[in-house]
Amino acid sequence: MKVILKYYLILINNRQALYGKGATMNILEIKNLNKVYGSGETRVDALKDVSFSIEEGEFVAIVGPSGSGKSTLMHILGGVDRPTSGEVLIGQTDICKLSETDLAIFRRRHIGLIYQFYNLIPILTVEENLTLPILLDKRKPNKELLNDLIEKLGLEERIKHLPNQLSGGQQQRVSIGRALINHPALLLADEPTGNLDSENTKEIMKLLRKFNKEAKQTVIIITHDERIALSADRVITIEDGMITRDEARIKTTNFNSDEKAEVRA
Ligand code: ADP
Repeated sequence: MKVILKYYLILINNRQALYGKGATMNILEIKNLNKVYGSGETRVDALKDVSFSIEEGEFVAIVGPSGSGKSTLMHILGGVDRPTSGEVLIGQTDICKLSETDLAIFRRRHIGLIYQFYNLIPILTVEENLTLPILLDKRKPNKELLNDLIEKLGLEERIKHLPNQLSGGQQQRVSIGRALINHPALLLADEPTGNLDSENTKEIMKLLRKFNKEAKQTVIIITHDERIALSADRVITIEDGMITRDEARIKTTNFNSDEKAEVRA
């Protein structure tokens, strides 16, 4: 109970830092986003006037064919690349206007990133990998909250192991924990199950859904996998750099059963 209370206090603090006291609004707002690579004959318009917003607690999948602009969008949302023009508001902060240093700090505190290939540091243990974003922020991890996270991730027996001593599913659980350790406003996952078998895919999706439900964690997943897309509450389709569909779903694929999904346009 005490752990839950502490957890919510941190959550409320983070949200107030983003929004100001008492305000409720979209956690993410993208306005007229354009990204151009190259120029002249090699010019590619990877994103063309993309606008959408996401509310706190949504579980969203972004889908589209290869080359449609999904990774470009994800990199910009994650603050690892900048748009040619447009705004990316996370809470009240337009991350495109931040200096490199401020953006790095903002990213560490408010954006959690998960990749297909885990990106764990091979010479650090599970516990060290998990707490890295806190240590980089020159803070000390709260032992109780850390243990609670380790338990939720099912990694109690593995905290002193190195990444190469873990299965793919376990490594991805560590990377989810590392992304969540600072209670980010957004959890962005780029093909998080692309390297996993179907059993581990199920486990990872159940875990992401659990954090989404229990902590109201906003989750955005880029995926090629139709079952993953069908498990989201909302599916945004991007084609040739433009949003071509944006569907809220009334019933989603439940990774606990073989329930079929229905789509509401
Ligand atoms: P997706 O993730 O949907 O496969 P990307 O965002 O990777 O799509 O790419 C969108 C378009 O932008 C593609 O035409 C791709 O070739 C181009 N592109 C991506 N990154 C670069 C880059 N660094 N330089 C030039 N073109 C790029």
